[in-house]
Amino acid sequence: MKDFTKYDYILVGAGFYCSVIAERIANDLNKKVLILEKRKHIGGNCYSEIHQETGIEFHKYGTHIFHTANEEVWAYLSRFTKFNGYYHQVLTVYQGKVYQMPINLETINAFYQVNLKPFEVDEFMKKEHEKEFYEDPKNFEEQAINIVGRPLYEAFIKGYTQKQWERDPKTLPASIIKRLPFRKNYTESYFFDPYQGIPKNDFTDIFNKMLDHPNIEVFLETDFFDVWNDIPKDKTIIYSGAIDKLFNFKYGKLEYRTLEFVEEVIDIEDFQGTSVMNYADADIPYTRIHEPKHLHPEREIKGKTLIIKEFSKESDGTEPYYPIGGQVNNELYNKYLTELNHTYPNLIVGGRLGDYKYYDMHHVIEKALNVYQTKIKI
Ligand SMILES: Cc1cc2nc3c(=O)[nH]c(=O)nc-3n(C[C@H](O)[C@H](O)[C@H](O)COP(=O)(O)OP(=O)(O)OC[C@H]3O[C@@H](n4cnc5c(N)ncnc54)[C@H](O)[C@@H]3O)c2cc1C
Repeated sequence: MKDFTKYDYILVGAGFYCSVIAERIANDLNKKVLILEKRKHIGGNCYSEIHQETGIEFHKYGTHIFHTANEEVWAYLSRFTKFNGYYHQVLTVYQGKVYQMPINLETINAFYQVNLKPFEVDEFMKKEHEKEFYEDPKNFEEQAINIVGRPLYEAFIKGYTQKQWERDPKTLPASIIKRLPFRKNYTESYFFDPYQGIPKNDFTDIFNKMLDHPNIEVFLETDFFDVWNDIPKDKTIIYSGAIDKLFNFKYGKLEYRTLEFVEEVIDIEDFQGTSVMNYADADIPYTRIHEPKHLHPEREIKGKTLIIKEFSKESDGTEPYYPIGGQVNNELYNKYLTELNHTYPNLIVGGRLGDYKYYDMHHVIEKALNVYQTKIKI
């Protein structure tokens, strides 16, 4: 049996949430921390590694691009890495032709074979809306048509959404796309945040640096639920795993979408000329192809390339990625949260699985810094 008495805090999960908190406790409070991580590696879903055959760094759990407008988060992370200045652009293939995404003036002009100026777009779209518009949009499809009109919806959104959710967009709530981006200019940058990029070394290097401290120990391949009973009851535990698992799913399981990634090595130098290409047609089974070498234009990687096809699926519990949300899931989450506060007063729960929320990396880092200040340092 492991000796847990020598640590001041036990943290569960070596993703950004617990790694940031561990780093703060070790450096700022000078207290001892143990991180339990059930996977073979640190870094959570941001983990990256070098592909053996091609020497190309790839993000094992999906392409990750760091971006933020939060200066505190940027300053904090910049202590552990430099960024390469990569800015993200997304393209999409529809019926064999490549268009820019999110829909912008270039997409509109190429799709309709016109040459509109920004100030002509509203008038042009008015004609589409006269053909079809929903005063009270009741589902995803009606909401999307209200924003982009039926032809652009059918081309770029319908098939992709069907693949992403494995459901007819008519059966999805309108709330999913309240903010569907539609640009009346040629802006190509996917994110507007002033700070963005990919870590110059790699994502995992950030975690190695954060956790490299004599006050921090990490036990890999250790599931918290196998050792929970051995941890003294008065220890503060910071948990970034799934909240429903803490209660053995007694009220039911929170639902997630997951992704399957299929790697292929191709004997050419550049397969698609960009890091992420979406596939909008419903009859192409994957949603995206990633080509990770393009995340590091500053690196000279000659020879074969690596591509990764992404397929979207229902999660049966393995690799829960995107919370499905909706009324039933949110009520279930609130039930667990209420019980958590009564049952485990020494447990601080957070991160994307603990809060059952989709967070970007900068959100999680901000949350972790905040929890450290308000619940741990006090
Ligand atoms: C496909 C995909 C693409 C994304 N792309 C971006 C992007 O481009 N930009 C961006 O900013 N964000 C992106 N994100 C979001 C980013 O991955 C998250 O914000 C971040 O990983 C959350 O950190 P976390 O610590 O909360 O969770 P995680 O990184 O998931 O870490 C939680 C850790 O806890 C461990 N764990 C869980 N249960 C136990 C247990 N019982 N015992 C021990 N260990 C346990 C897990 O193994 C995991 O390592 C993306 C997410 C996905 C799914």
